Amino acid sequence: MRKPFVAGNWKMNTDSHSSVELAKRVASGSSQVADQSVTVAVCPPFVYLQSVARALSTSSIAVSAQDIYFEPKGAFTGEISASMLKDIGCSFVLCGHSERRHVVGETDELINKKVAAALAGGLLPILCVGELLAERDAGQTEQVVNRQLKNGLADLSVEKVSAVTIAYEPVWAIGTGRTATPQQAQEAHDFIRKLLAQMYNERLAEEIRILYGGSVKPANAADLMPQQDVDGLLVGGASLNAEDFLAIIQAAV
Ligand code: PEP
Repeated sequence: MRKPFVAGNWKMNTDSHSSVELAKRVASGSSQVADQSVTVAVCPPFVYLQSVARALSTSSIAVSAQDIYFEPKGAFTGEISASMLKDIGCSFVLCGHSERRHVVGETDELINKKVAAALAGGLLPILCVGELLAERDAGQTEQVVNRQLKNGLADLSVEKVSAVTIAYEPVWAIGTGRTATPQQAQEAHDFIRKLLAQMYNERLAEEIRILYGGSVKPANAADLMPQQDVDGLLVGGASLNAEDFLAIIQAAV
């Protein structure tokens, strides 16, 4: 049985006050279900991670970073290591979010190093994969996801990969208001699970959680979650509104 998982990616939003307020509202509104019935995580910007982690320290909400650097320490100006994130109370980290891939220009190779560094530092990576609209239109969705998954998880043992969560986020659905249909999400998730079974084994594929992300809202969460291979949701815009995010969490229980 895979426990549902809902993560809220705040991207480059909130401030020192609103980040803590939002975290507290999410914690109090989900206290009956968080952890027992659904894993809930929030991903604040780096600068608010510590205050949000403090505000959530007595709750069952996990804290996730939005990114990480792969080196453990040293002369890497502006970067943040796994041990720093662990030190301030993070348990998860997004790796390869589409905005990192397509806005910042991160490659599969770099993302693989980040996933490996997160695991080595005791963090749980959420590896994001997903195709561009032009790639979907050209019938290349499976090819792209296959490449991102194989390269992103390269050289990691089965034991390591079992600590990874996958997020399927079609780029054309992120922040556009255009969600994948439940069938499109299920098809992609089924493909990913079968690919993981081939790459590792059936047991790992059955146990690993695959989240859907891309314009998830309270109104569509209830249609996406019942899909057999949709184990949870990675939510951007709607996670900035406590009521909406709490409604999405409820839809996942
Ligand atoms: C995301 O940030 O991962 C995301 C899916 O954003 P949105 O829900 O706004 O599309």
